[in-house]
Amino acid sequence: MAMNIKNIYCVGRNFVLHAQELNNTIPASPLLFLKPTHSLIIADGRDIVFPKTRGDIHYEVEFVVHIGRQYEQGINVDDLIDQMALGLDLTLRHVQSELKKKGYPWLQAKGFPHSAVLTTWSPFKGIEESIKYDFILEKNGQVTQQGNIKDMIFDLPTIVEFTANNFGLDQGDIIFTGTPAGVGPVADGDCFTLKWDGKQLGDCTIKLI
Ligand code: ZN
Repeated sequence: MAMNIKNIYCVGRNFVLHAQELNNTIPASPLLFLKPTHSLIIADGRDIVFPKTRGDIHYEVEFVVHIGRQYEQGINVDDLIDQMALGLDLTLRHVQSELKKKGYPWLQAKGFPHSAVLTTWSPFKGIEESIKYDFILEKNGQVTQQGNIKDMIFDLPTIVEFTANNFGLDQGDIIFTGTPAGVGPVADGDCFTLKWDGKQLGDCTIKLI
């Protein structure tokens, strides 16, 4: 990665319609999990290859923020976040369902290599500017997911404060902020395009071999 990324935090169940489509309850506080840095890969038009033996991979498009400086209590989110990107939080949905049943951590379903797909970074223009635009995932040229950070159950200030207080937050950390409704399985050869403010920020083709 061009950027030295430290911790990869992800928020689960942060959009009502997505929580409902998976028959999940709405959490009372932010639900966070981590991905290893080995999960990172850039959506720069490349093919991303997974062995079919891993199981069914689902796509989840998400708004991703990059932390630009050390968190201090009460800091304005617009001063803390310096960059934004879009990402795919790739998920082994069947594995995750089994883990949930057993009450086990989600790592095996969420943390496999190349499960954190990122577009290139853009400057973060602040929350007020960012809620003007939807983020969009196209699959093979068709819009399959569309979201807006104004619809998050836990907004950016809440997520940032919760993460900092419980786990720590510093320059180089990134946060996947949750997926809107419309998640689904990846088929071999699916082409994904991630769009923001009418512009394409990244794309990739997923190959299952
Ligand atoms: Zn997700």
